[in-house]
Amino acid sequence: MKQPLPGAWAAIPSVDALLRAPAADALVTQYGITAVTAASRDVLAKIRRSIREAKAVEISKEDCVDAVAKNLEARMAPRLVPVFNLTGTVLHTNLGRAPLPQAAIDAIALTARGASNLEFDLKTGRRGDRDAIVEERLCRLTGGEAATIVNNNAAAVMLVLNSLANRKEVPVSRGELVEIGGAFRIPDIMSRSGTKLIEVGTTNRTHLKDYAEAVGPRTALLMKVHTSNYEIQGFTAEVSERALADLAHSHELPMAVDLGSGALTDMTAFGLPHERTPMETLADGADLVTFSGDKLLGGPQAGLIVGRADLIARLKKNPLKRAIRCDKMTLAALDTVLGFYENPERLAEEVPSIRLLSRKADDIRAQATRLAPAVANACAGHAMVEVVDCMSQIGSGALPVEALPSAALALSPDLPGKKGRGRVLKRLATQLRNLSVPVIGRIEDDRLLLDVRCLEDEEGFVAQLSQLSNAAS
Ligand SMILES: *Cc1c(COP(=O)(O)O)cnc(C)c1O
Repeated sequence: MKQPLPGAWAAIPSVDALLRAPAADALVTQYGITAVTAASRDVLAKIRRSIREAKAVEISKEDCVDAVAKNLEARMAPRLVPVFNLTGTVLHTNLGRAPLPQAAIDAIALTARGASNLEFDLKTGRRGDRDAIVEERLCRLTGGEAATIVNNNAAAVMLVLNSLANRKEVPVSRGELVEIGGAFRIPDIMSRSGTKLIEVGTTNRTHLKDYAEAVGPRTALLMKVHTSNYEIQGFTAEVSERALADLAHSHELPMAVDLGSGALTDMTAFGLPHERTPMETLADGADLVTFSGDKLLGGPQAGLIVGRADLIARLKKNPLKRAIRCDKMTLAALDTVLGFYENPERLAEEVPSIRLLSRKADDIRAQATRLAPAVANACAGHAMVEVVDCMSQIGSGALPVEALPSAALALSPDLPGKKGRGRVLKRLATQLRNLSVPVIGRIEDDRLLLDVRCLEDEEGFVAQLSQLSNAAS
């Protein structure tokens, strides 16, 4: 370890001295005196730490001002930034799920800019209900009598349970006690909603008689949870929504379904596997159905609850509704996206997530082939690039076993043997994440795959590749 330079402490400039440096003027103009002072303190504290740890440090005033400029740049940079999602998972929860249509973005901006009729009835001039913005459309599209909207589907499930089954029992099949990514676990959600979970059946098989035996004087609701992110195969049995609804109604109990993704249209029209819709669920007798706004629907994060008017009225009266209501920007975007469902023939044109999900493998492969030379050029000397077939996923737990044929640019380390490949791949992935617009791929079979299914801004993607060759050299 190096010793502190003699006189190192004395050589540290003061905050004042830094602020007086000619180069600091421009920083003050750009960032303001408060931020520049704070950044200077940061930089000087770091220098003192280095001296204390006996690391040799250069402390010219110019170096310090440079460090202050870097500190300010990092301080002021936005933390939430766009990325290229080349993971192959279209509705990627960690990358923000559904991309919104431009019209929805415009509606958000318009609503955000000023006052709106969020809770104001323009006909009567009286106070209105924010749910009314989307309720009529949602009912028309799903066949429900009434609807209410909350912050996300997890909140929707909590609101249903807490409103209808607080301090009461709800039987749920052991095969449906799901965990959805990010700490949504049915047993935990139930207990936090004040509901006593009565587990029925087994992991692989649950029969109607299991539910029937669990119904007692304290039962408030029967519930089915769509096992959206996994599938049980083999010797299995589950009770249909229709049969469970009939059982519930024979005991004068309501039946609720947590549908998860809840496609608002028949996905097979876009070449996708069938995903159960709220319309089907309600038609099969469910009294309430909950689903997400930002999964297959392709809208903003929201929890949608549709069904019987008297039950929705009880949900709206629960004080919890006020705590988990969604904001005006969400409602603006949801209103726009639901509007596109009134014209389902044009959905793939208007709703980006549906457009991306329904892309054909040939088209994606052609795009990958078109991009390959530019990517190969940027990676020259470090990685070889080829176009490969791969599988994309819908994501967000929808249709877990069905993968979508796609194509990717596969980056393999330009090394003779196996040795060191993992390290090179990790470094490549890091370099891609460090681009101005970070590129997120996935590592598979000793290769870094960039699945181009979700790559719409090709020009922007290619334009920043030169940063990669600079970083690699
Ligand atoms: C995704 C999902 C949820 C959680 O929905 P969020 O909108 O992410 O809160 C709940 N239940 C099921 C079955 C799901 O698939």
